[in-house]
Formats: sequence, structure tokens, C-alpha cells
Amino acid sequence: MKKYVLVGCPLGHSMSPVIHNELFLSNKFEASYELIELTKEEFDENFDDLKKFSGFNVTIPHKINVIDKLDRVSDRARLFGAVNTVCNNGSELIGYNTDCYGFLRSLKMADIDLYGRVLILGCGGVARVFAFESVLKSCDVTIAVRQNSIEKANKLKAEIKEKLDKNINVISLENVGLGWELVINATPVGMYPNIHECPISKEVIESSKAVFDAIYNPQQTQFIMYAKESNIKYSNGLAMLVLQAAAAQEIWYGAKFTYDDIKRVIEITQRELDK
Ligand code: NAP
Repeated sequence: MKKYVLVGCPLGHSMSPVIHNELFLSNKFEASYELIELTKEEFDENFDDLKKFSGFNVTIPHKINVIDKLDRVSDRARLFGAVNTVCNNGSELIGYNTDCYGFLRSLKMADIDLYGRVLILGCGGVARVFAFESVLKSCDVTIAVRQNSIEKANKLKAEIKEKLDKNINVISLENVGLGWELVINATPVGMYPNIHECPISKEVIESSKAVFDAIYNPQQTQFIMYAKESNIKYSNGLAMLVLQAAAAQEIWYGAKFTYDDIKRVIEITQRELDK
């Protein structure tokens, strides 16, 4: 039986074992998926032990520093400067980033086009993926952040200019205007237990064509509820979470999933989150 793990710290109530084990089941693939909590120091000391697994996922705080330990990384992982999936093909460890596939495929599942004026709230790890992918799709990208993060957002702007030779806009959250094709929440604002918070006003949401929330707990954030009330298209982070895991399994063993497989795993994960 093949073994896969998620390495990070802290891992808390990670949904990854549920998602991956259900995805294995969909493919009738005999494998197990477990959690290994390692601090930065422990990760460095024990990295060679991870070579006994057929593959592994990495999360905070290892997504960046794992890169130097790998034999190769994919173009996307190199672009984002972060790896979340490692494939062990027996002779090499190859790093990938599947968050981008989770993002793009969950937009597709919700029938949301990635085009036009795209507003991204936040400039942390996942916002980087959204920003790069939106720029690659020729969107007119604006990143809105708290005043004290303008410098960090400007660094991302400079990085995108350097890597893709494209310009993006950086603004303060207080200065967000109306009329976006897509508004993406890449902040933890609205996450359980602060479920009544929203990173942006309802006016911004109702003037826009679609929204995407990276948050998956709760499934219906205030941000998503405003979108529903405004009758605009929306997607939450749960589909992205499942689809990035599905993309990891495609890399690990050539898995193939139907729309119904993904829907089933999303529903099971939702039930686990609701417990
Ligand atoms: P991160 O690296 O910590 O970035 C968080 C960003 O949100 C930063 O730009 C931060 O700005 C901003 N922020 C934090 N608190 C804020 C507030 N009160 N008001 C305005 N901005 C605030 O986190 P991340 O890894 O990108 O994750 C962000 C969210 O996405 C989390 O909820 C996470 O669970 C979710 N996520 C989902 C998936 C998925 O597959 N669905 C994948 C990854 C992440 P400052 O610099 O000003 O603090």
C-alpha cells in the first residue's frame, strides 16, 4: 500500500486526511494519507525520513523552504515561490503547487470566468497564487490590503513585474471602488469563529459580477452570503481545497476524477467540518 502524508505545523483539525482518503477511494487506489506535525527545525532534521513516502503535501511553515531540498520543481511552483505537493518517483523528489489548479477548476465548477477587473483582498500566501494566475489570464488585477501591508503588496507587484512583465495595482482596503468582474477574498476575515465579519462592504460585492472566497469554514461566509443576496455567482474555498488535493493525486499516480467524484468528496468534507 502506498503511503502519503501532510507535513506542517500546526496541523490542528486538518481536513486533508478525509479529502485524500475519500479521493483514493473514488479511484479504488490502495493508499493511506496521514498527518505529520513537524516544526521548521524538525522538518530540516527529519527531511530524509519523508523519502520513504510515495509523495507528500507540505503546508505552513514549509511551503517555501522545502524548495531547496527538492531535485526539481514545476514551473508554477517556481513562479509562486511555494510548493504544496511533492512527488517521489523513486529517484527524484519533484515539487509542485496545485493550489492554482484548485483555484482555476473551482471557478470553472461555479461557472465563473477569470477575466476583466479582478480585485484580490489580501496579499498572503494564497493571494499570491490568485494574483499570478489572474495576471496570466490577462486580467486587470488590483490588490487591496490594510494600510500597514501596502509595502508587502508592493513587493508582490514588483515580483509580478519582474517575472511576468505585467503591472498590477495596489490600493488600501478603504479605497476599494465598485464594479469588478471578480472579487476574491484571500484574507481569513469571516473565518470560523468570526463568521459575521466581512473584509469588504456589501456595496462592493453587489456591484460586481462574481466572488470567490478562499475560506472553507464556514462554507457560507458573510462575504458569500452578500453575494447570494446580490444574485451574483460565487464559489467558496471548499471546492478549491478538494480540487487542489485531486490535482496532487493526478500527479502522484495519474488519478482521474469525475465531476460526481469531486462533488461527493466536497459533501463528505462539509459534513466533517459541520461536526
Ligand atoms: P496569510 O499568508 O496569513 O495571508 C493572509 C492575508 O490576509 C494577509 O495579506 C493579511 O494581511 C490579510 N489579513 C489578515 N487579517 C486581516 C484583516 N483583519 N483585515 C484585512 N486583511 C487581513 O494566509 P493565507 O495562507 O494566504 O490564507 C488566507 C485565507 O485563505 C485563510 O482563510 C486560509 O484558510 C484560506 N486558504 C484556503 C485555501 C483553499 O484551498 N481553500 C488554500 C489556502 C488558504 P496583513 O499582512 O495585513 O496581516
